[in-house]
Amino acid sequence: MPELKPLPIATLLRRLVYEFEHENKIYDLPASKFWRGAADLSLGVRSHGKPAGTPFGPAAGPHTQMAQNIVLGWLVGARIFELKTIQINDRLTIPRPCIDATNVGYNVEFSQELRLEESLEEYVKAWMLLRIAEELGILGVPKRVAPTQKDAAPHFYDCIFDLSCGYNLEGIASERVTWFIRSMMNASEEIERLRQELPREFGCLRDIEFDPQIVSTATLSTFHGCPPNEIEGIVDHLLRVHGLHVVIKMNPTMLGRERVEELLHQVLGYEDIQPNPAAFESGLQFHEAIALVRRLRRIAHDRGLQVGVKFTNTLEVLNHRNFFPSSEKVMYLSGAPLFPIAIELAYKFHAAYVETAQEPWDADLPVSFSAGVDKHNFADCVAAGMVPVTVCTDMLKPGGYARAVEYLQALADSMKSFGCHTLEEYIHSYSGAKIPDRTVAAATNLKRVWENALADAHYTKQKNSLVPKRIGTKLWVFDCVTCDKCIPVCPNNANFTYVVDTTPVEYRDFIVRDGELEASEKKSFALKKVRQIGNFGQFCNECGNCDTFCPEYGGPYVEKPTFFSTREDWERFDKWDGFVIEHTGEEDRIFARIKGERYSLIQKRGASPGEEELFTCPTGIFAVHPETLTVHPTELYQRVGEVSIGTYLMLRVLLDGVLRGKNINYVNAAFPDLRPISQ
Ligand code: SF4
Ligand code: SF4
Repeated sequence: MPELKPLPIATLLRRLVYEFEHENKIYDLPASKFWRGAADLSLGVRSHGKPAGTPFGPAAGPHTQMAQNIVLGWLVGARIFELKTIQINDRLTIPRPCIDATNVGYNVEFSQELRLEESLEEYVKAWMLLRIAEELGILGVPKRVAPTQKDAAPHFYDCIFDLSCGYNLEGIASERVTWFIRSMMNASEEIERLRQELPREFGCLRDIEFDPQIVSTATLSTFHGCPPNEIEGIVDHLLRVHGLHVVIKMNPTMLGRERVEELLHQVLGYEDIQPNPAAFESGLQFHEAIALVRRLRRIAHDRGLQVGVKFTNTLEVLNHRNFFPSSEKVMYLSGAPLFPIAIELAYKFHAAYVETAQEPWDADLPVSFSAGVDKHNFADCVAAGMVPVTVCTDMLKPGGYARAVEYLQALADSMKSFGCHTLEEYIHSYSGAKIPDRTVAAATNLKRVWENALADAHYTKQKNSLVPKRIGTKLWVFDCVTCDKCIPVCPNNANFTYVVDTTPVEYRDFIVRDGELEASEKKSFALKKVRQIGNFGQFCNECGNCDTFCPEYGGPYVEKPTFFSTREDWERFDKWDGFVIEHTGEEDRIFARIKGERYSLIQKRGASPGEEELFTCPTGIFAVHPETLTVHPTELYQRVGEVSIGTYLMLRVLLDGVLRGKNINYVNAAFPDLRPISQ
């Protein structure tokens, strides 16, 4: 379904705890992939004065939209989260699919797909779940005993949420966005409301102290081509009205058309990619940006605040592929080719800024980075003093969030190779010369990272042309090659596995003629795979990423059974086929819409063996004997039609596997009696 709908904090928490207890994983991420720190090393940093356990985080985008995404990022070591951009227009229609991470990385994504009120709740929920996971000792690292003091070393659990807002001053200064920003800066009310929603079985967690100040920084996201005076007005507003530190995201087009094309085509070999010529003509230019940042940093400095810069936004290019709808004339490039472009802009901008700074505080320009970051270059970006270093495209590839552990491991290995225990020591040592001045050391490292990137085949077209292999078969509701790729590549954790009984069942469908039931020929219901794939519909926005990496045709999010969490939603989204499961004291029920037709199956709980079950299909309501698979009509049925026992068996398999199966998912986590926690 293209409309995302968050789950209550109670269900997210139940799944987190039950799945960890019973399956040693959380939201399908195995505990073996959790980041638990590196022995004898501190990866802690400070960003705008606040401590964070690592310099890594997901970039504002598909990985920071919903609470479960943020929890997954945290489990793999993210400690600085750039929340997905919010804006006044929170009723967007986004083309689908919207993410093409086949190799390079393109998108036609936009800002938050949730309403502002939902975004607030989602971010606060995530903030609380991270604290709860710390308190529960999920990662096996001792929790903080008190908040980290101003001058103390950052703690492993210290975490920063960075607000991302767009896109113009009118929207940002509006009443609703003002309310949103204030609520994120002091979320006491929302925290108290959600605290009451924590389930009774986790009553002790209601006493946890949650810091109500969720954000103190904002990254400004403007449209490609946004006029400089608009950018200046927004930053000025965020500084003066809200007292936020602000980061301004720079566009790669600031390098100029000639240089961007030279890098893309001649240096990297992507001759098929054409930057949009119009993107170079409008928007902030290089020298304008230096003057603008300087003016805004003065305003910030006078208020005890900071203005920093981020490299970079995505690069606007012409849509030369047939992945996105043809109505999309431009798309936004990310991934490997963006790294050398962005790092060159970071180096040149930083050097030009520092060289012309008149005062020492102004030369200390905070820089953050996000463009084609992966395990190959993460440690280098950190050595260049950039905080945070954030990732999106690489985490959309097979392995998903778990790929982040490799970034942090690569950083830890690099630190050890230089004999460093802290990131500060690492920045001073990385060039091999132990440079005493931190700013000089970071700038020297940045220059080296830039020079190396231009000569590194890792970023070239030759190294980024492979496409995921297809095997020629087509997906259907059950069975597939069960490679599991669709689960971690989904940023929203919408796909899941469930276990079924594969014992073949022989059955006959029935034809109703003149009110009489007639058995048709014998058939067999036989599933090949014990592990099957399902899709939790309200976490799926049809971005298309799981289809990109699935070896079979059809798209897991299209072909695999989609589950809704409530009957109300199942009714509301009646253009989509799908299922909803209900579990009450007396009955387990599954309702289905298949090719637009409605079906249901009701099983009594504690029924004696052989007790009939109620199956509803377009022909009416029938009692089905679960062992003999014989059928009796009730009073409500049509005199002509079909009774598909194959569909009855399908519903039975889904009810068994998804509700009562051994794996925990977002459907059965809503029912605590199915999976009591250990005492
Ligand atoms: S299930 Fe597939 S299409 Fe849906 S959000 Fe996840 S990756 Fe995107
Ligand atoms: S649906 Fe596709 S990606 Fe998912 S497990 Fe099956 S074959 Fe693999």
